[in-house]
Amino acid sequence: MSSIRNLIIIGSGPAGYTAAIYAARANLKPLMISGLEVGGQLMTTTEVENYPGFPKGIMGPEMMQHFREQALRFGTEIKDTNVTEVDFKNKPFTVKTADETLQAHAVIVSTGASARWLNLPGELELRTGGKGLTACATCDGFFYRGKEVVVMGGGDSAMEEANFLTKFCTKVTIVNRRNEFRASKIMLQRAKDNPKIALKTPYAIAGYKTGGEGGKIDGVVLEHSETKKKEDFPAAGVFMAIGHIPNTQFLKGQLKTDEGGYILTGPMADGKPTPGTRTSIEGVFACGDCQDHIYRQAVTAAGSGCSAAIDAERWLAKQGLAH
Ligand code: NDP
Repeated sequence: MSSIRNLIIIGSGPAGYTAAIYAARANLKPLMISGLEVGGQLMTTTEVENYPGFPKGIMGPEMMQHFREQALRFGTEIKDTNVTEVDFKNKPFTVKTADETLQAHAVIVSTGASARWLNLPGELELRTGGKGLTACATCDGFFYRGKEVVVMGGGDSAMEEANFLTKFCTKVTIVNRRNEFRASKIMLQRAKDNPKIALKTPYAIAGYKTGGEGGKIDGVVLEHSETKKKEDFPAAGVFMAIGHIPNTQFLKGQLKTDEGGYILTGPMADGKPTPGTRTSIEGVFACGDCQDHIYRQAVTAAGSGCSAAIDAERWLAKQGLAH
């Protein structure tokens, strides 16, 4: 067997594993470099209630274990390490890890995105086990039925999350560090028009208060951006919406991205009206949150992972490269 692989998949969230399942079943013998945060963002979620096929819900880590087992079952080879560097300028493509240099005819990038956090003390602990700090209203809003919560941020995500949360919560306070909002006018207006939403500016969260049952959040410390005066503010939950960071830094500019670092795919990648997961480099495909800042759901990531595997398979076949 040639030491040049057919396909290397970088990243192991729903997008990467789904790409692996499809590519393995297409006999491409894919190699997945999982990254050190194996399983991605869902590993820090509690219950996933909105993934079709699990009517009773499933814990995020358990779901990712199922994804992994399914990818392995069809012959995916997995290396649980990080990619440190890639060379997509020369063919075959080169993918380097800490201790190996690998080559492949095609690559799927599915490295996801990470929510931006404030990096305050205790944040990591409060994010796990349903203790009140989360970055996903769609995933966790339901658990705050009848409660008062805070959304931190002033962009479209904050507005959208706040509006969504009013389905469950009695009051949603959007805290923004400036008096001006980055959000689009229409989204901001929708939030202003919602009687359950209050705006608090210019403030930022300076700390979390954890007097609730089982160490749960029961409030935040807000700091006025100008006077720096601090005040306690009650909240049963905090939804962080200060943006996401796509995990694309390792590409070092080798694929075209938007200004936020999200990989451009499909028609945007090269200006041609071709849908799909192709990037600005032929033979390199991208799927999941590293190229999607709009939907960001496990199911949409998995769907795009399937597309990427099919795109890669067809491309390899057309080049006569798969072995
Ligand atoms: P944005 O980058 O647009 O907004 C981030 C917000 O977080 C800003 O208000 C920013 O404040 C604030 N912020 C950033 N860092 C900090 C910090 N350290 N402390 C306190 N506040 C902070 O991110 P979004 O996730 O809202 O949106 C990302 C993209 O997705 C945008 O293009 C948006 O339009 C799009 N989107 C579209 C939607 C739709 O159309 N339905 C829904 C959701 C997102 P500041 O302004 O002061 O920098």
